[in-house]
Amino acid sequence: MAKNRTFTMLKPDAVEKGHIGAILEKISASGFRIVAMKLTQMTTKDAQNFYAVHSERPFFADLVEYMTRGPIVAAILEKDNAVEDFRTLIGATNPADAAEGTIRKMFADSISENAVHGSDSDENAFIESAFHFSGREMF
Ligand code: UDP
Ligand code: MG
Repeated sequence: MAKNRTFTMLKPDAVEKGHIGAILEKISASGFRIVAMKLTQMTTKDAQNFYAVHSERPFFADLVEYMTRGPIVAAILEKDNAVEDFRTLIGATNPADAAEGTIRKMFADSISENAVHGSDSDENAFIESAFHFSGREMF
């Protein structure tokens, strides 16, 4: 599989709990190269747009509230098979179902506050990366 890119966010709960360093360590140890990275905070509009696909879901308002309540670390990551391998590294959406050793199993508390985001396709990785970063911020 060729080198490609995925997009991640260390979500507000992970940042609040001081897990930035431990999660980045795990990401690096798993072979991902950091292409872009910043500490930032999403506005309500940002979060509504970013998660627009979930706008009809019952958890949408809580999701927007959660994702805007504090800073996040946004990053673009590169590796062979990055999108799929990163989803494997983070584990299932619900940490209770996530495999041992995955980031969500280690650092997440619940299906809603689950520590990290990972793109689910190459197309979404591109869209989500462009949402947070300009070309000059990618290396
Ligand atoms: N989420 C939630 N309740 C649910 C499902 C999802 O609060 O029942 C939140 C959770 O933060 C999740 C995000 O909405 O990460 C996006 O949901 P998705 O199904 O895309 O999960 P992911 O791709 O993040 O694993
Ligand atoms: Mg998703």
